[in-house]
Amino acid sequence: MKKKSIAVLLLSLLLIPGCGAAIVEPPAAAPEPAEEEPFDPDSIRPGDDFNGYVNAKELLEADLDKYKGRYGSFVGLTEKVDDRLDEIIEDIVKGNRDSYAPGSNEQLICDVYQQALEASTGGSLMNDDDIKSMQATVDEIYNTSTMDEFLRVSGKLFSGWGVNPIFGIDIDTDMKDSASGSISLRPFCSPIGGSLEQICTGGQMGQAAAVQMRNMLMDFGMDGEEAKERSVADVKMIIDIALATDLELVDSIDEDWTTALQTAKYKTNEEFDALCPNVGADGMLLSLGMESRLTKGFYLWDEGQIAAIDALLTDEHLKEWQDIALVCYREGISEYLSEEYGGTPVLYSNDKYAKEAVKNALPRELGEEYVKRWYDSKAVEEVTDMTKAIVEEYKEMIKDCSWLSEKGKSAIRQKLDNMAYFIGADEPHATDPKDAELIGNSVYETRYRLNLKKYEEQIDMLRSGVERNGFRMMAPQTVNACYSPDMNAINITLAIMDAPFYSSDQSYYQNLGGIGAVVGHEISHAFDDHGMLFDMNGNYDPEWIPGEDRKAFDEMAQHIEEYYSKQKILDIHPVDGELTLGENLADISGVDCVLRLADTNAQKKELFENYARIWAEISPKDDVLTRLYSDVHSPAVARVNAVVPLFDPYYEIYGVKEGDALYVAPEDRIKRW
Ligand SMILES: [Zn+2]
Repeated sequence: MKKKSIAVLLLSLLLIPGCGAAIVEPPAAAPEPAEEEPFDPDSIRPGDDFNGYVNAKELLEADLDKYKGRYGSFVGLTEKVDDRLDEIIEDIVKGNRDSYAPGSNEQLICDVYQQALEASTGGSLMNDDDIKSMQATVDEIYNTSTMDEFLRVSGKLFSGWGVNPIFGIDIDTDMKDSASGSISLRPFCSPIGGSLEQICTGGQMGQAAAVQMRNMLMDFGMDGEEAKERSVADVKMIIDIALATDLELVDSIDEDWTTALQTAKYKTNEEFDALCPNVGADGMLLSLGMESRLTKGFYLWDEGQIAAIDALLTDEHLKEWQDIALVCYREGISEYLSEEYGGTPVLYSNDKYAKEAVKNALPRELGEEYVKRWYDSKAVEEVTDMTKAIVEEYKEMIKDCSWLSEKGKSAIRQKLDNMAYFIGADEPHATDPKDAELIGNSVYETRYRLNLKKYEEQIDMLRSGVERNGFRMMAPQTVNACYSPDMNAINITLAIMDAPFYSSDQSYYQNLGGIGAVVGHEISHAFDDHGMLFDMNGNYDPEWIPGEDRKAFDEMAQHIEEYYSKQKILDIHPVDGELTLGENLADISGVDCVLRLADTNAQKKELFENYARIWAEISPKDDVLTRLYSDVHSPAVARVNAVVPLFDPYYEIYGVKEGDALYVAPEDRIKRW
């Protein structure tokens, strides 16, 4: 089943990787008619298009073939880091495998690479033993004769493959007690044939779901007649669940994570037992492979749906649940599944596939090897000092804020004082010889063992609480940065500390406009529409800030929403000010803060121009338009052209006047603080 992880939802990222946006279209797309003057990027005036003024020249000369139709600061740096990761893998694989300590990063990387290479060369990621093991799992599902047995087998599917036939499961920090772990039960969504809403009418979508189910059952060897009969019963049960579901609520939590937090309900084990008298809290934990009373309760959303599902978790409906469990298991192993079971062939070239397998399976191990080779202590030191200066300036900015009460200012200062900064990379973990056993006899088996290890870590978190380590939020080789509200911490990765964000060849003010603006952006997420719901310790508590300040915040945010909704992309497509609010607040706040650290106009000019440079980007037009409706970040061009004109020095430095395209009247230059 496709489920969003709440872990993903909790992080406020700087950008969706690889998803920057641009307005400058690829020059190769439409050759200029011979008689027309070629476009001169130097003719762009900073008052009309600041993004173009800074970036057009570079973008027009970009080698788009090299970057598969995309180009820009993020794309370029991500490619550079990716090339380095490839080199690291090559280096390790070329080395003497037997000289690597058992359980070391090198041994694991070498083995995962070789295994993936051999499997993909053979054209199948499952060998004969894997097929036998898979069939044994399928038999285990179908040999269950009571609901109790079924819940137990579900637990094995969850620990080994991360799938659960009953709910979408998130194991993460407890939103109201950030030192503990918790389990959230996301609503049941149909594992087959579209959304619950589409299926619950029972018409064409229901029929399509039944056909899909029947084909899958037959792929796994079921007789056609039996598969037909069962698939109809399966979809009927899914329709029954859909009819008991608050579809609007389910939609709202899928669409908007701030709403999801606000509508989550906590049920203690006793309350859960009352809601689900059939399987109860212990039955639910059993279906996750967990011991009785491991947690004190669950977060959940749709009580009506949960009660309806509980009533269906009976021996009488065992067959339907078995089929649903098979769909989920199949989803968990789909990457490895051979074609005879409805899987897809290996699509990468072999070496590329093997490298991707290492990147996906061993992000921590590969990250540590990246850090070993590319750690730049001078950069980390300078960015750390810069971060301290930015935090101090934030406090000054809050002091000057016109709309916060004294009590609100003091609450925000406390949250700033309590914020943790993770910059660069974590210390490497100690090698454990037992980790050598993570490598199984095949790609499939190795993945299973890695999954089990991850599952054990989740259980540890539920038993012993959350280790507050911000480096775990994002791997050091990721070109990005983030804020985590449950930790009240920002993470600036090692990989993003590179040009144009940061370079020892750039001036302090250029770096301030690059990595400094990124730091300021992430800090702002602690105080945006989502971050405002969490207190200084990372606990969900909308009351941590006085109600009058929350109201004043909402009014200010409303102005920013309207301002962005007037921004147009490709002349006619408006930005969605509501969808992008949190990110826009962060962009404005970041630049506002770092500008205060520059004194002269020359310094501010360097800052503005490097800020624009980090958003240099070309993306296919279709991508840009699609993301207008789905990406919480504004398109790259708006991240420059909507932000810079909000600050007075821009007008002084570039002589921008009324009538220029980006001109914003002084009274309309919204103040975020
Ligand atoms: Zn952000």
